[in-house]
Amino acid sequence: MNIHEYQAKELYRAYGVPTPNGFAAFSVAEAVEAAKKLPGPVWVVKAQIHAGGRGKGKFLEASAGDKGGVRLAKSIDEVKEFAEQMLGKTLVTVQTGNAGRVVNRLYIEDGSAIDRELYLSALVDRSTSRVAFIVSQAGGMNIEDVAHETPEKIHTLTIDPATGYQPFHGRKVAFALGLKGDQVKAAGKLVENLYRMVVEKDMSLLEINPLVVTKDGKLICLDGKMNFDSNALYRHPEIVELRDLGEEDQTEIEASKHDLAFVKLDGNIGCLVNGAGLAMATMDIIKLYGAEPANFLDVGGGASKEKVREAFKIILADPSVKGILVNIFGGIMRCDIIAEGVIAAAREMDIKVPLVVRLEGTNVDLGKKILKESGLKIIPADDLADAAKKITDELKQVA
Ligand code: GDP
Ligand code: MN
Repeated sequence: MNIHEYQAKELYRAYGVPTPNGFAAFSVAEAVEAAKKLPGPVWVVKAQIHAGGRGKGKFLEASAGDKGGVRLAKSIDEVKEFAEQMLGKTLVTVQTGNAGRVVNRLYIEDGSAIDRELYLSALVDRSTSRVAFIVSQAGGMNIEDVAHETPEKIHTLTIDPATGYQPFHGRKVAFALGLKGDQVKAAGKLVENLYRMVVEKDMSLLEINPLVVTKDGKLICLDGKMNFDSNALYRHPEIVELRDLGEEDQTEIEASKHDLAFVKLDGNIGCLVNGAGLAMATMDIIKLYGAEPANFLDVGGGASKEKVREAFKIILADPSVKGILVNIFGGIMRCDIIAEGVIAAAREMDIKVPLVVRLEGTNVDLGKKILKESGLKIIPADDLADAAKKITDELKQVA
C-alpha cells in the first residue's frame, strides 16, 4: 500500500526525521490558508498523487501551465494561482502512464534553499533478508537512469537485524554522500531514525529523492515515497487510515474485497487462474502466442463457487477484455466448483467474448461435463499451449 507525500512527511515528523514544514490542502482556499501559516518568502506547491516524477510531469490541460506538478511560489498570490491551475487537473509523469492522475490534493510547503540534492532509499532486500540502504550523490534524478549509466555512483549497505542500527552505518552513509562535519552526525541520526521507522511500520520501500543539503548546511528530506507491506497492515490501523482509494485501481479494490489477487494489465485476454505460478505461466504462454493478458486474476487454492463467480464477474466487467482464458489446475481446488462458478457468472452477466476453458486435476471429468451440459458456448482446451493457441486464434477472428 502506498501513501501520499504529505502523509509520509507526517511520519517523518513522528520519527524525528527532518523535513520542511507544510500542510495538505484540498481546495484553493485551504492552499492559501496553509501558505499563510508558513513564513515564506518561498513556498512550494506540490501535487499529491501516488506517482513520482511530478516535477518534470506535464498536465493534460493547457490551463494548468507547463511547469509540472512541483512549483516554487514567491508570494501567497502565486500559491493561489498555482493551486487554481493544478487542482482537478490531470498530471502525466513517467510513472503514471499516458492516462495520468487527477490532482485532488496539494501539499503547501516551506521552500528550501538547496545546495546539493542526494538520494536515499531503504528497502527489504530479499537476497540478504535485511533492510538495505541505497544512497547516491546523484539525487533529484531518476535513480534507474543513474543505476544504468553510472552504477559506481550508487552505494548499498545492509543492516543486520540482530544488531540493528550501529553508528558505523551512519558514518558509511555520510561518507558515501560526501558529508562533512556536523552533517556526519546528522546523517547518523537520520539513518537510525529511518531504520526504526521502516522496521516498526513494516515498510517494503522508503525512497527519499531528493534528500538535500541546504545552503545553511542542514540535511532535510524533501520528498517521501513510502510503500507498506500489505501482509502486515493488520497490525497498523493507523497506516490503513491513510489509504487513498481514489489512487487505486477500482477493479483491484473490488477484487480485494473478495480476497482475490487481481492485477490489471494492458492487454485484452482476461485470465482466471489458480495459483501465482500458474498465472505467470499462463501469461507467458499467451505472450508466446502473440497476444497480451488483460489481467492476472488468481482465485487461490480453495475457492468457493461464489468466489469464482465474483472473479469471473470482475473479468467480464473490464471493457478491454476481448477474450477469456480459464486455466485451472485442480488440486485442493476442484474442477466442478470452478465449472459451477463460471456458469453462475455467465448466467448473470451474459458473455459476449470467446471463452476458452482448460481444466485439469481433481474432478476434471465432472467439471467438463457440467460445462458441456450448461449449453454455454465454451471452447474446451486440453493443455496450456492448446488453450493459449485457441484463445489467440479466437481473437484474431474477431479482429
Ligand atoms: P517528484 O518530481 O515527484 O520527485 O517531486 P520532488 O518532491 O522530488 O520535487 C522535484 C524537484 O523539485 C526536486 O528534485 C527539487 O529540485 C525541486 N524542489 C522541491 N522542493 C523544493 C524546494 O523547497 N526548493 C527548491 N529550490 N527546489 C525544490
Ligand atoms: Mn522526488
